[in-house]
Amino acid sequence: MSQPLKVLLIEDSEDDAQLVILELRRGGFKPEYVRVETAPELREALGQQKWDVVLSDYNLPEFDVQSGLAIVQETGMDIPFIIMSGFVRAADVVQYLKAGAHDFLEKDDLARLVPAIERELREVEVRKQRREAEETLHKLSRAVEQSPSTVIITDHEGLIEYVNPKFEEITGYSTEEIRGKLPDILDSGIMPQEQSDALWKTAREGKEWRGEICNQRKDGEMFWEYALVSPIKNTDGETSNYVIVTEDITFRKEAEEQLYRQANYDDLTSLPNRALMFDRLGQAVVRARDSSRHAALMTIEIDNFKKIDETLGHEVADGLLQAVGQRLEECISSVETVSRLGGGEFAIILPDMESAFQARTVARNVRKQLAEPFFVDDHELFTTISIGITVCPVDGDDSGILLRNAKVAMEKAKEDGRNNYRFFSQKMNKEAMERLSLETDLRRTLEREELVLFYQPIVEAATNKVVSAEALLRWQHPERGLVPTEQFISVAEETGLIVPIGEWVLRTACKQAVQMQQSGFPEVGIAVNASPEQVWSGTLVGLVREALDESGLKPEHLDLEVTESVCMDDMPQTVATLDQLKAMGVRISIDDFGTGYSSLSYLKRYPFHTLKIDRAFVGELPSNLDDVALVEAVLVMAKRLGLQVLAEGVETEEQRQYLTSRQCDLLQGYFFSRPLPFDEFLLQIG
Ligand code: C2E
Ligand code: MG
Ligand code: MG
Repeated sequence: MSQPLKVLLIEDSEDDAQLVILELRRGGFKPEYVRVETAPELREALGQQKWDVVLSDYNLPEFDVQSGLAIVQETGMDIPFIIMSGFVRAADVVQYLKAGAHDFLEKDDLARLVPAIERELREVEVRKQRREAEETLHKLSRAVEQSPSTVIITDHEGLIEYVNPKFEEITGYSTEEIRGKLPDILDSGIMPQEQSDALWKTAREGKEWRGEICNQRKDGEMFWEYALVSPIKNTDGETSNYVIVTEDITFRKEAEEQLYRQANYDDLTSLPNRALMFDRLGQAVVRARDSSRHAALMTIEIDNFKKIDETLGHEVADGLLQAVGQRLEECISSVETVSRLGGGEFAIILPDMESAFQARTVARNVRKQLAEPFFVDDHELFTTISIGITVCPVDGDDSGILLRNAKVAMEKAKEDGRNNYRFFSQKMNKEAMERLSLETDLRRTLEREELVLFYQPIVEAATNKVVSAEALLRWQHPERGLVPTEQFISVAEETGLIVPIGEWVLRTACKQAVQMQQSGFPEVGIAVNASPEQVWSGTLVGLVREALDESGLKPEHLDLEVTESVCMDDMPQTVATLDQLKAMGVRISIDDFGTGYSSLSYLKRYPFHTLKIDRAFVGELPSNLDDVALVEAVLVMAKRLGLQVLAEGVETEEQRQYLTSRQCDLLQGYFFSRPLPFDEFLLQIG
């Protein structure tokens, strides 16, 4: 099939023109031509249509090649210009080619014409494509330069090669500063390491990564971006560069944050609102369900809130709510949540409690803290609160049910005269009430002289001689009878009553010890239990000194028993207190050894004299092999550390024999004697 070809001939001879056309037809073209002889004709023809090629004679009467070439070039169109002539000088050929002619042919040798045109047409096409490519490239680079997004191009290792002006504007880094660096330079540190690892891992695998990142400007300010990281591959399919295009989304992020705050926080107090409270409660419920621990929800209402609002106005009421919110926050730990439910109503979530009664301690503290006056706009306001407590999973494991329960309990607290707390469950309420009345009674024990000390002998294993006695507290209640020691000791510790009670114990024990020594046991010492609260109170050293002075007991005859929990917090004051006691000559024992969770390293740090193995490890000796292993390990370790070892709870001859054979220094337990009232004790050891 012949190819159409539009030919513009600059030629004065029609015959020559026909020859050329013939040659073109033979060569497979379907030429369509116009012949011109003058400059105006040429201009007109050029303006009429698009030409594929201009073939120009060399010698024209009215016209010359040079002008023809110039006229064609003026149009700006890329049309091959081929000169045909008779004889011509080589120098002229060079000159015309330089001027822009594409080829030169001899009229007598037209065989070259067709191949020359074919070549020129191909070249035109190549030039056209290149021009288009350049234009595209130009457009693209303009687009990148003027882009409203930041653009970073890195090499295959991620080192920055190019950043666009928007990048400079947003980050404050100039191209010079940033070139050759890793984009990490923008890292705000907020983004988790895994995210940044995932980003580069994805990119290195040749895939695109997109996501939100938080970056940092040169001046340190943070900003959020939505980033697209794409690898660019070379012709071999290898990644040669990475392009990172980002869009500043700080605005959107801030709006999101604000929306989140509006949806989840109370405007007035900035505390979590009901919605967020439900969310956190849901999490606490799940955790309590999966573990053996408890969660509690407490609702709190300011008793006289409505009255304050009505009499003093909204502003004062709002101020009070803010102050109450703040004070509530001070009452809780970081894992707990205070939220405002609305009106004068707040809630506290206690997500992780070992015992449900911890909620009671928090409730009491809240009540105490809120009882202090509030100062709002020159008003001194006194408030009381009613608290309802429900415990998960005991009372339910659904957030909605728990909230209802807490409110029911809170209503009960209001009915019972406000300024109070109530548990939802009857059983717990009863227990709480009992504890409360126990506490009330316990406060009076000292004045009513209901406390007594019982004594249990401590025996030297090797000789079976009584060397000391442990003073054990007993509460003889007029109606309750003998109250179980562990029960009232825990109430005393919780309420702080243990400090005055402990003082009484110490003074009494020292006095009775001297009495005992004077009754014929001059070398028998006394062991007194001290609660952590006493050790931490800062008054123990002074108190011990007074008790010794008053009674005349020698310090080496006093042994203070403390439990591991004393050492748990590892406070320098604790070490100092114990060191001072040791310096006075008093001995210190570690009681109930093995039941705490603290690390053993504290044994070296504290000045212990004796280690008392808890009776839980003694009861099944020597048949329980685990206990055997444990007791033997403790004995070896204690000897190494230069500590004496005492085994508590020795009840059988077999246990006594076993422990004696293992070089346990001291023994104590029902096998020798139960704890006895002072007089009976004297008879027993006599
Ligand atoms: P503890 O200091 O470990 O006292 C030993 C407990 O084991 C005493 O219980 C004692 O009666 C009991 N016991 C002794 N031998 C045996 C035995 O062979 N078998 C069994 N099953 N038990 C034996 P108690 O008197 O009920 O005291 C319980 C805990 O209360 C004491 O444990 C101590 O931690 C605390 N405690 C007692 N009196 C005081 C005190 O005056 N102040 C303080 N802070 N705590 C005290
Ligand atoms: Mg003890
Ligand atoms: Mg003990």
